[in-house]
Amino acid sequence: MFVELYKDGSKSNHFEVSLVDRPSKITVEPSGEALFLHWDATVDDSDRLRQCIICSNDLYRERSFPKITGVVIVLAFAGGIAGVAGFLTTWSMFSAVVLVLLLDLAILFLDKPRLVCYECKTKFKNTQIAPHFDPWDQHRADQITRSKS
Ligand SMILES: [Zn+2]
Repeated sequence: MFVELYKDGSKSNHFEVSLVDRPSKITVEPSGEALFLHWDATVDDSDRLRQCIICSNDLYRERSFPKITGVVIVLAFAGGIAGVAGFLTTWSMFSAVVLVLLLDLAILFLDKPRLVCYECKTKFKNTQIAPHFDPWDQHRADQITRSKS
């Protein structure tokens, strides 16, 4: 699993860690600082993350390509309008649709969902994600903020 640490909203350090070995202490790159990881109740029986190993808080699932997905939708919509309005020939219409379809497929293959911590914003990549994780939820984020203060 690849872990990216965030500080004040920007990426600070990162490290690679095995969910099977579960080392209690790790050295982060590029600062070289030592970091202690929480493995108690944060990993399930199938070696998948359950909670944040940095601060033991809840995680949410995030897609890695939300912006391109939006572009594809806009492209498909624009293509449809242009086709209806008669600006496009059958062939250019056809190639536009194929292009959009290919883009969509590429995103499907390239999109690697990751887990993000509500509290410390740490991102966990290249890891198996248990199906019970939901996308970011305002209600849950509020609950965590409230329990902190
Ligand atoms: Zn955290």
